[in-house]
Amino acid sequence: MKQLIYLLFATMILTACREEAGRKEASARPDYVLVIHGGAGTIKQELMTAEKEQAYRQVLQAALNAGEQILRAGGAAMDAVEAAIRVMEDAPLFNAGKGAVFTNAGTVELDASFMDGNSLNAGAVAGVRTVKNPISAARLVMDSSVHVMLAGSGADEFAREHGLETVENSYFYTEERLKQLEKRKGTEEVSLDHDAEEPVKKKYGTVGAVALDQAGNLAAGTSTGGMTNKRWGRVGDAPIIGAGTYANNQSCAVSCTGHGEYYIRNVVAYDVSARMLYKGESLQQATQYIIHQKLKEQGGSGGLIAVDKGGNFVMPFNTPGMFRGYVTADGRTAIAIYKDSQ
Ligand code: ASP
Repeated sequence: MKQLIYLLFATMILTACREEAGRKEASARPDYVLVIHGGAGTIKQELMTAEKEQAYRQVLQAALNAGEQILRAGGAAMDAVEAAIRVMEDAPLFNAGKGAVFTNAGTVELDASFMDGNSLNAGAVAGVRTVKNPISAARLVMDSSVHVMLAGSGADEFAREHGLETVENSYFYTEERLKQLEKRKGTEEVSLDHDAEEPVKKKYGTVGAVALDQAGNLAAGTSTGGMTNKRWGRVGDAPIIGAGTYANNQSCAVSCTGHGEYYIRNVVAYDVSARMLYKGESLQQATQYIIHQKLKEQGGSGGLIAVDKGGNFVMPFNTPGMFRGYVTADGRTAIAIYKDSQ
């Protein structure tokens, strides 16, 4: 009898301990997480003016605010990602939307992609010239077409037909981007913002966002103007699902920035998820290896942002800097630019 009572007691204590552990585990995941980037590159503090840095920080903060507002209210990760990216697309500072880089022909051609980690649905546009916010066009392809990727004038037409705001190609032009093209015109040289040999004068970069919402859904998006002086309809990694963008509720959401050709060849965004799922690596292990070892050994410069299903997030890069920021439901938030800052 005594033994039975002991056993009963022991079982009760064990159950209580398990429940407590379960609660701890559940509460370890923040209700929501939003991480953004504004491009990786040769971004060094000594080459940046205080005003310029302030301007970048302001836009990054506005992008975080726009996305967080949605997540705090219980909104979808997808909506937060789109809202945050639209803010950066509308700012002339980044190589996405207004302020995007020029092609060799003196036009602006924009790439973007979007992925829902819950349904594994995805959408992308490549080489659009008139869509004001390419990230919304990418989402539209996902939501309102049977396709994943539309390119060129067809993609512009699709967006217009579905009522997205369109603009003249000249809307995207900025003086600074024109100067960058003029320097390279007549040469075979193409330039990524992060290859800048004159970083003071250069602006950076591709923009992206990843989010985990209160329902546990993950989403990712990326938007860019690509490379200065690009020709022949060059398309980078940003609009390629699995290369520049990937999201899967079972693993993580990823948005990349860097030398697109390397990111395509290494299927970087998908590789992060695959290493987690197939190899059992943590988000930290998977991304450290890819950015600091695999890409670095090949000469592929850049970075990425990622959040996993448990709300862990990382922002690794192998360039001198990467515009980045995050905010979580449990009050962690920061904006950083250079290597040594968080
Ligand atoms: N990944 C982009 C591209 O290759 C550029 C960048 O991230 O700066 O088009």
